[in-house]
Amino acid sequence: MRLYDTLARKIKDLTPIDGQTFRFYCCGPTVYGPAHIGNFRTFVLQDVFRRTLETGGLRTLHVRNLTDVDDKTIRESQRVGQTLTEFTRFWTEKFHHDCDLLQCLPPHIEPGAVEHIPQQVAMIAQLVEKGHAYASEDGSVYFNIASFPEYGQLSHLDERELELGRTQTQRANADEYEKQSVSDFVLWKSRRPEDGENFWPSPWGEGRPGWHLECSAMIREYLGETFDLHSGGVDLVFPHHENEIAQSRCACGGHFAATWFHIAHLMVDGGKMSKSLGNLYTLEDLAEHGWTAMEVRYVLLSGHYRKPLNFTFDSLHAAREAMNKMAKAAQQLAAKAPADAVLTSIEFGPFQAAWEALNDDLNTAGALGAIFTGLREAVKTEGLAAAQALAALHRILRALGLVLPEAEKSVTVPDDIIALAEQRLAVRQAKDWAQSDVLRDQLAALGWTIKDSKDGYELKPS
Ligand code: AMP
Ligand code: ZN
Repeated sequence: MRLYDTLARKIKDLTPIDGQTFRFYCCGPTVYGPAHIGNFRTFVLQDVFRRTLETGGLRTLHVRNLTDVDDKTIRESQRVGQTLTEFTRFWTEKFHHDCDLLQCLPPHIEPGAVEHIPQQVAMIAQLVEKGHAYASEDGSVYFNIASFPEYGQLSHLDERELELGRTQTQRANADEYEKQSVSDFVLWKSRRPEDGENFWPSPWGEGRPGWHLECSAMIREYLGETFDLHSGGVDLVFPHHENEIAQSRCACGGHFAATWFHIAHLMVDGGKMSKSLGNLYTLEDLAEHGWTAMEVRYVLLSGHYRKPLNFTFDSLHAAREAMNKMAKAAQQLAAKAPADAVLTSIEFGPFQAAWEALNDDLNTAGALGAIFTGLREAVKTEGLAAAQALAALHRILRALGLVLPEAEKSVTVPDDIIALAEQRLAVRQAKDWAQSDVLRDQLAALGWTIKDSKDGYELKPS
């Protein structure tokens, strides 16, 4: 598989460093509220990435963390009067439920920050010892970015007009600090009254880890110093991933991630979908309007991951129509496939182009288009070839994590019902509206709804 690497700024071939298992890390959700479908653009694309590798025969090791302690989780848990653990457990379960609805495979390992405080403290201690970090007067510890000359390579800081504050007087203490300035960032935050019960011991006094550190510590624990790929939404490139690189490279040596995979944002009306802007949709919001998680997934796959994608309700309508079309074609193939067909492997058959699109920088939009082209050929096949095409269709859909809706089942209308409907058509042609209504009521009593159409009627079970 080939993928664009943010650091190298080019498309690269991906092969596992150890020759066996592709080991990758994704920054996970901050569990303080429901994830929105913008967050899910990132998680769904990471899921297709993994499914593509696995469908191609590679083993994977997928690690994704839960941010269960930071400024936001603490603030919100206090607002609703719950302990941090109770509060984050609730939102973690909700997140898992949404991931299931969206057919996102659970990561192999899902570590939480709170469970890894000792590992984070150990990493800070190493950074202090090696001269990359310093404690301030209040017991907080900061990373000294001047001690790591390679700082800024991922986000190409040298090409951006950022305010460079590489001195100890410029420090950022908030988890999500001003993205337009470069400064020493916090590794350990000394205990403050507003933290409530949420503090842990450390050599620098009580406090809690800064947000950027957790990923570095958990990566070291589960993937080691050098691993295949690291991923998140584009907003994480700077400063979060830049800071992770600095911490990990300075504490552990090693190369850290061999490839960086960043997903562009889901937008609404040209702006980023985000909680602070109040323009976000959750799966639940959309379900209330009758949209399924699979339709949302289809929309999220309908653009290339390196370009922002604008979310609209029209795109949901288009997704519904597209999946119904696919389902209908699948049903036609199933009807033509012999029940006792013995399948020989044809790989992706008519969907080879779709498979190639996925492997070519995860072109999900191209893959969806190629499925329709493939289906035009596939529906012309008969017998064993139809069975093979159907198996290939399911294979490519599995790689995309799409489950088709059940195509509308064709219903057999009993003869006596048809007789009543015909009778009603006759009286309508004779303009006997009263009798027409009587017959409509009779049909309704027998469990059928009749709808008049231009050239006759439509019957549906009610
Ligand atoms: P958070 O829960 O805020 O830490 O975000 C979880 C993931 O969603 C991160 O990888 C973010 O980069 C990503 N993300 C946040 N907003 C969007 C968006 N509008 N579109 C795509 N990804 C996003
Ligand atoms: Zn991270």
